Amino acid sequence: MNSAARNGSPHDVVVVGAGAVGVAIAYELASRGASVTVLERGAAPAAGCSAGNAGIVGPSHVEPLASGSAIREGLQCLVRPTSAFGMQPQPALVPWLARFVAAARPRRRDAIARVLEDLASESYEAHLELGERLDTGLAKRGFLGIYETPEAFAAAREHAGSDPTVELLDADATRATTPALAVRPAGGILSTRDAHCDPERFVSALAAAASDLGVRIRTGVEVLDIRRKGGRAISLFTTAGDVPVGTVVIAAGVWSGQVAASLPITVPLQGGKGYHLELERSGDFGPPVYFPELRIVATPLEGRLRVTGMLQLAGTDLTVDQRRVAVIASEAARLLGDAGRRPRLRTWRGLRPCTPDGLPLVGPVPGAENVVAAFGHGQWGLQLSPVTGRLVADLIGGRRDPRLDALSPERFGMASRRRFAA
Ligand SMILES: Cc1cc2nc3c(=O)[nH]c(=O)nc-3n(C[C@H](O)[C@H](O)[C@H](O)COP(=O)(O)OP(=O)(O)OC[C@H]3O[C@@H](n4cnc5c(N)ncnc54)[C@H](O)[C@@H]3O)c2cc1C
Repeated sequence: MNSAARNGSPHDVVVVGAGAVGVAIAYELASRGASVTVLERGAAPAAGCSAGNAGIVGPSHVEPLASGSAIREGLQCLVRPTSAFGMQPQPALVPWLARFVAAARPRRRDAIARVLEDLASESYEAHLELGERLDTGLAKRGFLGIYETPEAFAAAREHAGSDPTVELLDADATRATTPALAVRPAGGILSTRDAHCDPERFVSALAAAASDLGVRIRTGVEVLDIRRKGGRAISLFTTAGDVPVGTVVIAAGVWSGQVAASLPITVPLQGGKGYHLELERSGDFGPPVYFPELRIVATPLEGRLRVTGMLQLAGTDLTVDQRRVAVIASEAARLLGDAGRRPRLRTWRGLRPCTPDGLPLVGPVPGAENVVAAFGHGQWGLQLSPVTGRLVADLIGGRRDPRLDALSPERFGMASRRRFAA
């Protein structure tokens, strides 16, 4: 086979990135009969943030990051470097924060929350369907928020209102649901319909199913630039040569701005750096738990307990901050006793692709008619990946979902068209 043939056909949809979002798009497109190639620079799918997240598929939790309390926490982190929400100073942070503050205004925040809830609700149903068809390992055991202070519990109860999908638990019921709990809680809120999975298993299952449908997943191939002619992308310049394209979908997580560098859109992405510690586990843990005051989640996975935490705005910097890892480890031990002190199997960090308003960029890129953006899912990329797959497959199939208005890739403004036109 010559290299041009190996590199695909000019009619292919080429998806850049094989994280949860990229594979969900590839699977959905292939299910509808499209010819798809996925290019992934890592050695296997899930080489980025999708490998190590908390695995929660919880539509009741998809709140936008931007809020008054996040801004207060962010300011505190300047004096307390181990806080759960923090930022690494860098020039790109300044315009990002200005947009973040604007998105935190109550009316704007409510509107964003409604969009996220709607997408998460459909995506949740899609996760259930996928879980029945494929080996995604989805378990529907609920998600328990555990509150240490009466004030935080009272505020959460008020927020939950009369939601029929939540159960309010007193201190004893909370401890009975999470036998490992080593602190006396004020109470707990169990979101009964929430589910969880091992995100790596989810990505592998979708990648395998997509391959069965004919998708070519090429690993070890990095996309360096998008070559275009007359307002259309014609090929991708990659470390494995030129790959011709019919349509390009950019699903490269926090690195999407680099892939889209020559396109005429402004891509304000910050990596929201988070960590997980994976501990050995034996016996039943109960449902995954969340300690909202600390932003720590503990998710039981096959034979291990994954404890995740921290969100530090860090650009694309992947340096491990040992002080933050130590905070998660000591909180795990304090909150979960023996279960939180078991031998550690893995320490991991990843970058949530965070937009300032908390909504992903999904839709056609203006001025590049065959390029589709599908990135910026922030805290909820695993959860929102199936619905993103549907939105993108609809779009490529000729049906534009009106929900794309809120996700428009041009909403942060257009970059200079000079480079693009060049
Ligand atoms: C601690 C933590 C906990 C989280 N918990 C949850 C949770 O419970 N539920 C939830 O829904 N979400 C959660 N998230 C967020 C979720 O992990 C992300 O939103 C999601 O993984 C983003 O998926 P993605 O496919 O867009 O990006 P990624 O998974 O980062 O995938 C992008 C892929 O593109 C590849 N790539 C990049 N550049 C190129 C290039 N130039 N050429 C080729 N390939 C390229 C990368 O190697 C990578 O494989 C959490 C995140 C963290 C850090």
